[in-house]
Amino acid sequence: MVGMFTAPITAEAVKEKARALGADLVGIADGATLDAHPWDPADPRGPKDITEVDSGRVIVMSKRLSAGVSRIVSWSDRHKYYNDELTLTLLEETSLELVYWLEDQGYPAIAVPPTHVDPWRYQGDPRQHMTPLLSLPHAAVEAGLGTLGLNLQLITPEYGPRVMLAAVLASIPVECDRRMEQALCRGPKCGRCLKACPADAVRHWERDWPACDEYRSPHGFAKLTDHVERIIAAEGAEQKKTLIRSEASFYLWQSILRGAGAITGCRRCADVCPVGADYEAMLADALDAIPEDTPAKAERLSGMVAREAGGETGGRTAQERWIGKR
Ligand code: SF4
Ligand code: SF4
Repeated sequence: MVGMFTAPITAEAVKEKARALGADLVGIADGATLDAHPWDPADPRGPKDITEVDSGRVIVMSKRLSAGVSRIVSWSDRHKYYNDELTLTLLEETSLELVYWLEDQGYPAIAVPPTHVDPWRYQGDPRQHMTPLLSLPHAAVEAGLGTLGLNLQLITPEYGPRVMLAAVLASIPVECDRRMEQALCRGPKCGRCLKACPADAVRHWERDWPACDEYRSPHGFAKLTDHVERIIAAEGAEQKKTLIRSEASFYLWQSILRGAGAITGCRRCADVCPVGADYEAMLADALDAIPEDTPAKAERLSGMVAREAGGETGGRTAQERWIGKR
């Protein structure tokens, strides 16, 4: 039925529109390929789990994060959270505008934000790491935007990992982009993401996601429930009042108001990554030194290099399709 009203469409026209609406990078992936190669093979999910009928193509868009806040070394600076939240808002508007434009051409479309987790899996534990139906970093690789790094962050040739991602699903009859075959990540010999991580969550081509969540959502749902529980458990009205008026309440209120510090947070691993045309030009002078580095981290990285020389791959084999070839 919808087919009767469709206008001719090309991949270039879709990308041109996305760029005109504000995206910096755009690529198109095949929905069936993403379904056939689930980002988590142990728990396969993909575009068809969002919609079976309108997920033929996954248009992945990215917007670069502000270099000005990347240059702030503290992972917990609220200007970083706030600027990143604005970037996300802008990209969400771009996605919605693209949805309406595609629908004007006769193709039903759906916006998928990077924060889209699978709520039916929630087990009542606020610290449980929630995963998405469609991992946008993996979709971005399939759409030819970049490859995954040591901690599975997306790295692009233009902006390294310093991008926000969003996707639009639509069954449009257009050509897809090709995956990059060669890895952009320099591996444990570089290891700057591991050296800078305040949670020490970077593993050997893996990430300790629950540890990372504490920092990438520092005033999010887990912090809110902890704080409310502390207030309930406090003895007496005075103690409760002090907690209600505390700095923790203030940060939670600000995060609920804007999302800053709840859906945005730490991104030190992205800031210090030397890949990306922007790094030398905009960031190196402020970010080359890594104050979070320790001898223990250096030793762990040397161990990874040695193990790789001996043929071990850590988590690389399971994710090689998206990490790319050495
Ligand atoms: S987002 Fe922060 S806590 Fe998470 S891996 Fe990156 S540096 Fe570590
Ligand atoms: S900082 Fe180095 S090791 Fe980490 S993702 Fe970037 S290139 Fe790879």
